[in-house]
Amino acid sequence: MTAALIDGRRYAAEFKSELAEQARSLAAEGARPGLATVLVGDSYPAMAYERRLRRLADELGCHYVGEAMPGDVAEADVLATIGKLVADPRVTGILVLRPVPPHVSEIALYNALDPLKDIEAVHPINAGLLSEGRPHFVPSTPASAFHVLDRYLSESGRDPAAVYERSNLVVVGRSNNVGKPAVLLGLARNATVVSCDVHSYRAGLLAEHVSRADILIVAAGVAGLVTGRDVKEGVIAVDVGINPVEDEVTGKVRLVGDLDSDSVRQVAAALTPVPGGVGPVTDLWLLRNTVSAAALPLRIANAWGEQHPGSQLLETALRTSRLPSTSPT
Ligand code: NAD
Repeated sequence: MTAALIDGRRYAAEFKSELAEQARSLAAEGARPGLATVLVGDSYPAMAYERRLRRLADELGCHYVGEAMPGDVAEADVLATIGKLVADPRVTGILVLRPVPPHVSEIALYNALDPLKDIEAVHPINAGLLSEGRPHFVPSTPASAFHVLDRYLSESGRDPAAVYERSNLVVVGRSNNVGKPAVLLGLARNATVVSCDVHSYRAGLLAEHVSRADILIVAAGVAGLVTGRDVKEGVIAVDVGINPVEDEVTGKVRLVGDLDSDSVRQVAAALTPVPGGVGPVTDLWLLRNTVSAAALPLRIANAWGEQHPGSQLLETALRTSRLPSTSPT
């Protein structure tokens, strides 16, 4: 068997034109989407991600604010910057780029976000709503993993809901940003979900669980962690990992995933490549959440008959669960 390659770039291109249209019509209604990123320090992947988002926001006609601070900045100054962005009406979505230096508490930064601008669903309110299966925002990376899966299943003539219900779904990696929300999204689709992490690996249990997966999502950040020998024939595998590796011959750095793609391709029914699989959709999903956040005041106004709801109304909506969901998943 040679697996089909799931083309995330094609899905992203289609997604982008839909999103551009939504952003344009919102701007015409006076609700232009605005993305703000908060970068602390000089992590190369975080800076590269910031540049991609800035370009994408520009292409979609969104307002963009890029806050960058040196790695030795005081936590209080980062919190003050977030407070400024929360108060800025031109900013509809805020992303705190990871990693942040160890002396700055990621949790403190997340707690300082306005849940209605928290487009990665890292504030406890949004994380809680996601775990209850009624998310306001779905975090971009796991959302994209399921976006490509849903699309692939539909395009191959299957009903995604029926496939998930009959599937063992194994998620490798359980970070708060990727693996854990992927588990929750799998549960929301009624799959039978198993979560593995580095402890499963050390206990020698990883291969056993991976071998049972009908659908596999790998987000560990370990190049080539899962090989063709580990997976079941016909598995559908989503590779979230992005790992820079230096080519022994040329010395050039290239990006590879957590799947050993050459060997997995011989056994799987389908897999996502790295690059060109989940990544391109992730960037757009973040902008999608920014656009949804911009639409929220209009949706609440329509639902509640208010012309210009203020922040107090939004807070009330959140507290009383009368918050229109921004998520299709
Ligand atoms: P993280 O370091 O926060 O978490 C890694 C998780 O993998 C942990 O739960 C850890 O226990 C587990 N793990 C580590 N080694 C393992 C092993 N040998 N066996 C099993 N589990 C193991 O990383 P993260 O932020 O969740 O990101 C994971 C990967 O996804 C990284 O490569 C990152 O670059 C990539 N990523 C990709 C996208 C995208 O759009 N494609 C977005 C975000 C992150």
